[in-house]
Amino acid sequence: MDDWVNGGVVSSDLMRELQLFRAIADHSQAVIGAKDLEGRYLFVNGEYSRLFHRAGHEFIGRTDLELFPPEIAREFRKADLRVQKNRQTLQFEEVAPVDGQLRHFLSVKFPIFDQNGELYATGLIATDITSLRQLNNELKLLADTDGLTGLHNRRKFFEIGQQEVQRAQRYNFALSLVMFDLDHFKAINDQFGHAVGDRVLCDFAHLLAGKVRSNDSLGRLGGEEFAVLMPHTSVTQAVSWVERLQKRLRNWALKLDDGSTVRLSVSAGISPLDVDQNNFEQMLSRADGLLYEAKAAGRDCVIYQAE
Ligand code: GH3
Ligand code: MG
Ligand code: MG
Repeated sequence: MDDWVNGGVVSSDLMRELQLFRAIADHSQAVIGAKDLEGRYLFVNGEYSRLFHRAGHEFIGRTDLELFPPEIAREFRKADLRVQKNRQTLQFEEVAPVDGQLRHFLSVKFPIFDQNGELYATGLIATDITSLRQLNNELKLLADTDGLTGLHNRRKFFEIGQQEVQRAQRYNFALSLVMFDLDHFKAINDQFGHAVGDRVLCDFAHLLAGKVRSNDSLGRLGGEEFAVLMPHTSVTQAVSWVERLQKRLRNWALKLDDGSTVRLSVSAGISPLDVDQNNFEQMLSRADGLLYEAKAAGRDCVIYQAE
């Protein structure tokens, strides 16, 4: 027996220490627990029982396999064994079912040693980060999206463009980039107002979205400038796609409440990924130059770089 225990009676110092530990653990919003080397629970805190709707004593002596679905319990056990093997603290994200739904936890698992330095348990402190994760996903979507049209914004489109160029180079497939600029768009704003201009931008984005394939990427690069990246598409194929779109636009009209009609045309430049162009910025600047030529050539047309 050591100084702490006197004839089987727990010393008041030790008792106070236990009370202190219990109070801290039970006031924590994190899930805290400890298991022996066979995976049987030695301890759970208040949050552990609250979250999984079981009294604390129901955990004690049981393993995760008796408490959680087998596939989840096996993951928990794997992590415990890794901690036991490496004798080091692990931090990782994991999921656990709470009220029938999987929630995400940031978990810290650590080895617990006795006074002789012998490993006898693993501890767990897990924080529910589900809402943080959701918020993060929503923020990411907002950061990637053009607020008006819902298309990828310039930053996201560049990110996709760089990845697609790398993929096309690695797997050696054709990649075409189409840049669009709405014709005389300033006149639409001037004549019908900015709100109508916004509607035209949304309608055009919608029209584009309805005409692309699922592998294509669509972005609004700026005011009335749009771009479409088309993997596995030759320039010839991209040209006929653009011409069909321009033809469709010639029959397009936005009827306003006051009886007036807004019409729209668009100019386009198309650049393939070719041997001289080893990055997305070069491809984009080439397509932009060709778009400028299409404007100079009278608008409502497409100018492209032959492959
Ligand atoms: P061009 O045929 O040469 O392209 O002529 P344009 O009038 O389309 O080109 P310009 O660059 O002179 O004008 C683009 C206009 O687009 C000017 C700007 O006010 C308008 N614009 C840019 N962003 C928005 C937007 O989000 N909403 C609206 N309604 N207008 C916008
Ligand atoms: Mg423009
Ligand atoms: Mg324009």
